[in-house]
Amino acid sequence: MERVIIVGGGLAGLRTAEALRAQGHTGGLTLVAGEPYPPYDRPPLSKAVLRGETGDTTVAADWEALGCELLLGRSATGLGEDLETTEGPLGFDGLVIATGASPIRLPGDGPQHVLRSIDDARTLRAGLRTGARLVIIGAGWIGAEVATAATAAGCRVTVVEAADAPLAGAIGAEVGSRTAAWYAEAGVELRHGLKVASVRPGGLELAGGGSIEADVVLTAVGVRPETAWLEGSGLALENGVVADERLRTTRPGVYAVGDCAAWWSPRFGRRLRVEHWDTALNAPDVAAANLLGGERAYDAVPYFWSEQFGRMVQYAGHHPIADAMVWRGDPESGGWAVCWLAGDRLVGILTVNRPRDLLQGRRAIASGAFVDGARIADPAVAVKAA
Ligand code: FAD
Repeated sequence: MERVIIVGGGLAGLRTAEALRAQGHTGGLTLVAGEPYPPYDRPPLSKAVLRGETGDTTVAADWEALGCELLLGRSATGLGEDLETTEGPLGFDGLVIATGASPIRLPGDGPQHVLRSIDDARTLRAGLRTGARLVIIGAGWIGAEVATAATAAGCRVTVVEAADAPLAGAIGAEVGSRTAAWYAEAGVELRHGLKVASVRPGGLELAGGGSIEADVVLTAVGVRPETAWLEGSGLALENGVVADERLRTTRPGVYAVGDCAAWWSPRFGRRLRVEHWDTALNAPDVAAANLLGGERAYDAVPYFWSEQFGRMVQYAGHHPIADAMVWRGDPESGGWAVCWLAGDRLVGILTVNRPRDLLQGRRAIASGAFVDGARIADPAVAVKAA
């Protein structure tokens, strides 16, 4: 293959370049990166960067040794016969789309922060002054992590959530409500069941009437896959770039990886789009292999972690296909877990300060073996195949 272009300079883009070289691609290799920085890690942006422990999360990479042309600050604008970019067209034989996702903003003319890029993190960090009133819209993963860092910085933090519990969209209100006490313990005011209509200078307006005053507003209500530039390209787009289990899009020679890819999961029998680090890290190996003529399926068990209010929360699997839920351990004890079962198979697990459960559960999900739901309710019993 003479020339491969990767679009998107995040973790998935970098990993694709590395995987292509590791798997024997000797032709041209170009990475088109919209941001002015080489690929960096995003998980620390809501953790160590906001705590002021680091300002640089660049992922170590030897671009010269990789033989990869790095076009920073250049964006793809369309896909026809060639890749259209802000600096003109680029021809290719193979293309990997790794354009990630962009945060959703709310209406209104008031200043609102989002947290996706290193620049976002630096700007937000500068606003986290002692005594500042920070209002975070959205009690999701990012909202909780920022609330953690902001309280440590001495801010007065309010989190406004439209659903009845934190994390309701991600893991359901029943499980999410178990995390509500964490906010109160940390001195964070959690106001759920409130929909924000708009952000105005000095605060925000609520949909049902009323307002909340704020010095700093962070909108953390989720992301959209970054695919607008592909409209009209002929590629199938449906909540991301549609790809099959080999990460092939609907156009031959074009692949999709990371947060922007909605790929077919043979394991779960549905299309998944996973906005987490582990997928951006590992899916590129499969896309690269297939672009170079292989026939590998990406059939991973999705995994992620989140650090909230001094707790390590980890998740593996895909619980929406479950028909039963098993609690494991007492939330008061500081460490607990939830196991989701479909019939007699484990399909999802969420753990709080129980990393061993997570490891065992992830293995049990991957193996697809029979699990005894009654037994794994006992936190003293290993979460593994029966
Ligand atoms: P991205 O990292 O979004 O990279 C895509 C890149 O493509 C961007 O640089 C973008 O500017 C560029 N781009 C977009 N459009 C174009 C275009 N048209 N032309 C050229 N370039 C373009 N995951 C976890 O599992 N655990 C965590 O604790 C965790 N914490 C997180 C904290 C924060 C603050 C954020 C934002 C994410 C976190 N994640 C976490 C998620 C994880 O970081 C993402 O899943 C991962 O970054 C996705 O990588 P990606 O390469 O697919 O996309």
